Amino acid sequence: MSPGFTIVGAGPVGTLLALLLARRGRRVRLLERRADPRDTPPERGRSINLALAARGIAALEQAQIMPRLAPHLVPMAGRMLHDGHGGLTFLRYGQRAHEVIHSISRERLNRVLIQAAAEHAAIDLQFSQRCLDVDVASATLQLRDERDGARRAERFEALLGADGAGSQVRAALVRRALSRAHEDELAHDYKELVIPARAASVGQTTTAYAFEPQALHIWPQGDHMLIALPNTDGSFTATLFLPRDGEPSFHSLRDAHAVRGFFQQRFADAAAAIPDLEAQFAQHPQGRLGTLHCDRWQVDGRVMLLGDAAHAIVPFHGQGLNCGFEDCLVLDRLLAHEQSRAAAFERFERQRQPDAAAIAAMALENYAEMRDTVRSAGFARRQRLAAELERRFPGRFIPRYSMVMFHPEMTYAEAQRRGARQERVLDALEVLHQGAGPLPDSVAEQSRRLLDEQGL
Ligand SMILES: Cc1cc2nc3c(=O)[nH]c(=O)nc-3n(C[C@H](O)[C@H](O)[C@H](O)COP(=O)(O)OP(=O)(O)OC[C@H]3O[C@@H](n4cnc5c(N)ncnc54)[C@H](O)[C@@H]3O)c2cc1C
Repeated sequence: MSPGFTIVGAGPVGTLLALLLARRGRRVRLLERRADPRDTPPERGRSINLALAARGIAALEQAQIMPRLAPHLVPMAGRMLHDGHGGLTFLRYGQRAHEVIHSISRERLNRVLIQAAAEHAAIDLQFSQRCLDVDVASATLQLRDERDGARRAERFEALLGADGAGSQVRAALVRRALSRAHEDELAHDYKELVIPARAASVGQTTTAYAFEPQALHIWPQGDHMLIALPNTDGSFTATLFLPRDGEPSFHSLRDAHAVRGFFQQRFADAAAAIPDLEAQFAQHPQGRLGTLHCDRWQVDGRVMLLGDAAHAIVPFHGQGLNCGFEDCLVLDRLLAHEQSRAAAFERFERQRQPDAAAIAAMALENYAEMRDTVRSAGFARRQRLAAELERRFPGRFIPRYSMVMFHPEMTYAEAQRRGARQERVLDALEVLHQGAGPLPDSVAEQSRRLLDEQGL
């Protein structure tokens, strides 16, 4: 007998969803094209670590996975801006102690989730099973066993496509005109580089990081940037985001000399911390980025797309996976409370599509902020003003970054709408108060009126 739910893709989203459904007593078959990650070394070329924030954590807590992950998290309390020559500026993400984001190894996260799924009797976890096609009308899945190439067809009752940005489940829906999808590719690519831990000096027991560990490091350079997230072993994973073509670009960095010179000129302190920069640059893959737009995620209570399969986004808000985890939480609750699976699927699509569109847009906007505007005096002044408004009017004014990262009770779409109204308040206040000091009481009073006007 086929189990209630078949999930294609045992990435983080598919596995977490399997765990949530199994906790409600549902039987789940989880199919993954790759071999068991617990037996194989991590694949190169995918992001090595991720920033986990409140939305993702809420879903992991619901599945009771957080205690297993907690030892592997490195908290990041803010952005550390590098001017490229050793000059540093730290900008806190939030005003409260718990308003931090967490760096976690993608591989560790996957292994912990897979292990938890493997321990659950209601989850039938199968590796090396590649989905080739899905026929919704006959509720049949075409699979290939990657170990011997054998193909087979399997029936399903409900199919959940969590097979990532290149989803075969989505492709099957598109082929049958059940959905339409297109990707807006970014003209900027990325490449990851490892900044190794510093050799610990004699008598030193703790791991030595090349830079402050509890921060997300950014080297903003206008139309490109380098960022680095800490790992638990003292290393950082740095990511260079750079145009594909033009000057400078991945295309223009043709040889080791050009690479070293480019890093030396723009990210000198990072260049000094990566002794084998040229070799890493030559060996590590260059990844593409884009935003996926898919107009229909579900068909008649039978098939549903979620996570990157439904809405892959650019990584500049650190929310792709957080959004996918939030999908799991929302779908799990809807399946528990709606009258039928079809009603739950429909409601999920209606509810989540505006949120996915909102975070996709905010993630693109954040690229310009991270690589460019974050450097300006105006940005720091506006941030101070926003922080003061948040202190004076708690609950009425919350910086947009905080709404997205630390307020899972607010949807992405709501964060985007409130964020736009707050921008208008900040625009008006910047004219009234140009100094760096605290808001005079008279201006604070005008702020209250501006917030009222914006319905905040
Ligand atoms: C450079 C970069 C940095 C990022 N940083 C962050 C960050 O800081 N924070 C954040 O929240 N997000 C981040 N993201 C986004 C995040 O990586 C994705 O949103 C997340 O991995 C999506 O999870 P998923 O399970 O939906 O898809 P995936 O992680 O892609 O998993 C899909 C799974 O399905 C399997 N699969 C694929 N096809 C088939 C098939 N035909 N049959 C069977 N199995 C299949 C795959 O092998 C894989 O295991 C980043 C992305 C990039 C590129």
